[in-house]
Amino acid sequence: MSYSFETGIYRPPSEGGSSSLLVRVTRNCPWNLCTFCGMYKAEKFSRRSTAEVKADIDTVAIICRELEVDTDIPSQRGGIDRDRVATLLSKNPDLGVSPGFGMVLEWISSGMKTAFIQDANSIILDTEELVDILAYLRKTFPCIQRVTSYARARTLARKSLSELKAIKNAGLDRLHVGLESGDEAILERIKKGASPEDHLEASRKAMDAGFQLSQYWMPGLGGKKFWKEHAINTAALLNKINPHYIRSRPFFPHPGTPLFYDVEKGHWPLLSPKEQLLELKETVKALDVTSKICFDHAGNYWCGPKGRPVFKHTYEGYQFPEKKPHLLELIEEGIRFQELTPSGPPIWLVR
Ligand code: SF4
Repeated sequence: MSYSFETGIYRPPSEGGSSSLLVRVTRNCPWNLCTFCGMYKAEKFSRRSTAEVKADIDTVAIICRELEVDTDIPSQRGGIDRDRVATLLSKNPDLGVSPGFGMVLEWISSGMKTAFIQDANSIILDTEELVDILAYLRKTFPCIQRVTSYARARTLARKSLSELKAIKNAGLDRLHVGLESGDEAILERIKKGASPEDHLEASRKAMDAGFQLSQYWMPGLGGKKFWKEHAINTAALLNKINPHYIRSRPFFPHPGTPLFYDVEKGHWPLLSPKEQLLELKETVKALDVTSKICFDHAGNYWCGPKGRPVFKHTYEGYQFPEKKPHLLELIEEGIRFQELTPSGPPIWLVR
């Protein structure tokens, strides 16, 4: 009996924190042109067949049965029997070096509540196929309470509202979309392949279909030249969208990406940590949303007194508008701290 199944590498931190089951329906990114992104640059995009994905789901179900785990209801944390794991491993030593098996154990021991559909733009699958896979996943694991995926704005905008509703009704709850900036010129320069209008149309359609929407933006992406436009136009677009979540992913140049070489040649001068916080202040001041603003990634590195992070890194973040004054106070505190002890970004953020 083979227990092999396939998983991809990336998932949003909020899905890592909840130890989501990873279900890979495509490999890598069908766009792969964004100049700041190094996630899949050396990889080719491909689709997986419905049969392959269902076979993976069946394999995870078999592992659960072997471990005598009830997949009908979410379990309590820690609900896994070490002896059964040891027996399964002794019969199938290959499982011991399978990253997928480790992921399944983590998923079981954290309660089997969530799943993440991989890789970078799962909704590019034909709607019927995706609906079929989602329904199969939900039927196989009634314990799962939330299923999420990454989605590109242009792909979302191309699907009809009825297609998106069908995908939502089949069991996909939340979409994670990379907005990066609301400024048209910046979106063109980073080759995002989606205009502010595309983002607005995609977001409205996704929310009309009933999805929870999680939008990611990149403080610092405009650099010294375009920081103001980046701040103002990003806030303006987010105000129109008013997504459920707005997640900060500060820009830093990843070696090997086109934008890294632009920075290295001096074509894209970066903001200092204090300037990034000043830009962040402009963005947050202009936000008029009922979203949760989240800094749930280590890239939000700014520190305040005693080396504490300026922002909490929780997945639910700061609820607006209630927490807006508090968030602005935190930003001011971070700026004051940078004035007292000016510093560069941490060593792991630079080459
Ligand atoms: S769409 Fe996402 S994964 Fe693909 S290149 Fe752009 S940022 Fe990277």
